[in-house]
Amino acid sequence: MKKDDCIFCKLANGDIPTRAIYEDELFKVFMDASPVTRGHSLIVPKNHYDNLYSLGDEEAKAIMPLAKKLATKMTDVLHADGFNILQNNGTVAGQSVFHYHLHLVPRFKNDGHEGKLDWGHLELTDDQLDEIMNLLK
Ligand SMILES: [Zn+2]
Repeated sequence: MKKDDCIFCKLANGDIPTRAIYEDELFKVFMDASPVTRGHSLIVPKNHYDNLYSLGDEEAKAIMPLAKKLATKMTDVLHADGFNILQNNGTVAGQSVFHYHLHLVPRFKNDGHEGKLDWGHLELTDDQLDEIMNLLK
């Protein structure tokens, strides 16, 4: 299930070389070509899925244990002070490559990004919050 014109299909399946740090039958994990922090890497499924909505159940089930394992190792090896796991779906959410991928972002004191993940806060009334809860449950 590869898509011909997809750069991440080529990277995940070895058609284009990567700085790979992990590989199994479902995923390749390689360093981001434009890292946000030291060690910033991507977990990329070998099969093509546009985003979370179409991600295979097998990959969905396997990806968080893998993220935990790699984040733990990266934190240890790189002496990180914290860690972000980030995954974008759709242009409005910041997705720029339309092949599902999960960002592993080790964080360091004074890494220059403090506050850059600040999403601010919506001011919502109790009625508005209840309305959203009722839609979601
Ligand atoms: Zn792809």
